[in-house]
Amino acid sequence: MAAPFNINREFGTLQNWVNGERRTPKTETYTPVYSPYSGKEIASVPLSNAADIDDAVKAAQAAFPSWAETNIKKRVQVMFRLKMLLEDNLDELGELAALECGKTPGEAKAGIEKGIEVIEYSCSMPNLISGGTQEVSNGVDCGLSREPLGVVVSIAPFNFPFMVPLWTVPIAITAGNTMLVKPSEQVPLSALRLAELLKEAGLPEGVFNVVNGGQEAVEAICDHPDIEAISFVGSSRVARQVYVRGSQSGKRVLALGGAKNHTVLMPDANPDISPPGVVDSATGCAGQRCMAVSAMIGVGEISPLVEKMKEYAKSIELGKQMGAIINKESVERIHRYVDQAEEMGADIIVDGRNATVEGCEGGYWVGPTLIDNVTAEMPIAHDEVFGPVLAIRRVRSLDEAIAIENANPYGNAASIFTSSGEAARHFSRKANAGMVGVNIGVPVPREPFSFGGWNDSKFGVGDITGESSVRFWTKDKKVTVRWFPDTNRSWMD
Ligand code: NAD
Repeated sequence: MAAPFNINREFGTLQNWVNGERRTPKTETYTPVYSPYSGKEIASVPLSNAADIDDAVKAAQAAFPSWAETNIKKRVQVMFRLKMLLEDNLDELGELAALECGKTPGEAKAGIEKGIEVIEYSCSMPNLISGGTQEVSNGVDCGLSREPLGVVVSIAPFNFPFMVPLWTVPIAITAGNTMLVKPSEQVPLSALRLAELLKEAGLPEGVFNVVNGGQEAVEAICDHPDIEAISFVGSSRVARQVYVRGSQSGKRVLALGGAKNHTVLMPDANPDISPPGVVDSATGCAGQRCMAVSAMIGVGEISPLVEKMKEYAKSIELGKQMGAIINKESVERIHRYVDQAEEMGADIIVDGRNATVEGCEGGYWVGPTLIDNVTAEMPIAHDEVFGPVLAIRRVRSLDEAIAIENANPYGNAASIFTSSGEAARHFSRKANAGMVGVNIGVPVPREPFSFGGWNDSKFGVGDITGESSVRFWTKDKKVTVRWFPDTNRSWMD
């Protein structure tokens, strides 16, 4: 089998994107970017330092007054054009994101399409953020307007190279802010391409900037005195650090973290839709998405459904229907969790360890893996594994299942598969998670409903898209006005 698309592209030494063009950063430290499909180096990315962050902040600061003064009806035109450009170039962009992050091109395109929905939402902002006025006492009017914050930053993880920046960029920029995006150093290509498209869409220089890098760049962002707000998406460990460090220096911070999403499988679940529903959630994007189900709790007699899940998981063609793992260390981590569960007595009923894909031999592959009879002591029952691995536990009652779900420290998503409205309603009310699904394994709220979890899956207030995102990227100005009668004026003039 040949590779599913051209995986042999190379991009050489990358730069940052500052003031509407590529700029060689001051740092002399670079790190290789490998494609998960081939394991080959496809680019070298700068690890920007504090001076590089400052450079981009200065460009964004210089662009801010004029962009903030530009009428929102004009600002939004850039987003209309960006939407069209993304749609026109969807195949190329999907393959670019797939090449660097390991998704299938289809999955990568779906991520971009989800980002396009946020752009569409941002296109309605002239109507959404019109504020209001009221006569609050006789002759006194009070009005509200939503003002941009200034220079803001979006820090993104590796697993959705277009979608996560597109959760924030359209709304923050349409609101009148100027922006830096700091992509994951593992997937720098998509954000740089987004910068080119924004320029083509007519965005003025300096409004959107890309600084490549890792920890040093993120720490410099947290500490920079002229950055007003940070949105972060990544692991909970780093999310917490960014939340604390950014808040300490007076910034508004919303930091989305990791997840351990549970699904409850009831014995009355639809036997045709539920088994592939659960498996697709666990294995889509090779399990590397914060909405993936990675723990299933079966209630009562679910063996016939598990048999169907097994059959379905074995039918998934690696390299075609399912993509690769981001890097070698992640493959090793996933293997370690599966090995450990096996040693502790779990049953590996579908084994994706040591998988290979013809035509992509050097790539990082793990096939769909289902592990039955997982128990509470096993780390795989609790930890975020971030691979195409489903840990199955069995219990006797729905309330036992809910107790397990609710005891995990994360709270991104939780779902139930059942034919009972009563069970679904009970679960939806009790689940301790920000996004709940009924007969849906990946309950991503679509616009205008906002995306965001609870507990250790999010630090900060509000969600990253939707109305709370508009609030996050703006500050409210209240103007109270009283005019006095002009006693010298004759109304007959
Ligand atoms: P990560 O936390 O390793 O990296 C995220 C960002 O932080 C990257 O830009 C990276 O360069 C930077 N970074 C990494 N280590 C850092 C450090 N020590 N100090 C400062 N910055 C650092 O996450 P990842 O591996 O790129 O992405 C996977 C994680 O993201 C998973 O935990 C997943 O659940 C989570 N995620 C969450 C959501 C959500 O919406 N909640 C969405 C996507 C991914």
